Amino acid sequence: MTMRVGNGFDIHRFSSDPDRPLVLGGIVVTGSPGLMGHSDADVVAHAVADALLGAVGLGDIGMLFPDTDERWRGADSIGLLEEVVRRLRVDGWRVVNVDCSVVAERPAIAPYRDQMRERLSAVVEAPVSVKGRRAEGIGGLGRAEGIACMASALVERDQ
Ligand code: MG
Repeated sequence: MTMRVGNGFDIHRFSSDPDRPLVLGGIVVTGSPGLMGHSDADVVAHAVADALLGAVGLGDIGMLFPDTDERWRGADSIGLLEEVVRRLRVDGWRVVNVDCSVVAERPAIAPYRDQMRERLSAVVEAPVSVKGRRAEGIGGLGRAEGIACMASALVERDQ
């Protein structure tokens, strides 16, 4: 059995478009502006995808789904994460678990944590934990200019 660990980090700035939804971990969070990005800007799904790709050495989501490619404009990032998991499986990898820390001054993550965990767990077919954390007023995240997410992923395969 071979095991590998990977980490992923992503950060997106809030959009000034009031009609843009905020999507975190595949869940639409109401009552908050959305994040700017080429895709749906799901910072949690992106960090998880990068942690998985990093674990197996398959690059990162910027390489797989470049933001210069019109195919990914407005893309559902859960779909991108599904594609990442599919590529891992092709190479014989299974996800053991994923752990995420979402850094957001607002909105509060806790009310959505269980829904995010369930959605992400269904996609990676392994336990996913999601923790919300405020930035204590420090820097751009502390000024609520955007949201960041860090993720760790463990994967395994038979040889
Ligand atoms: Mg991103």
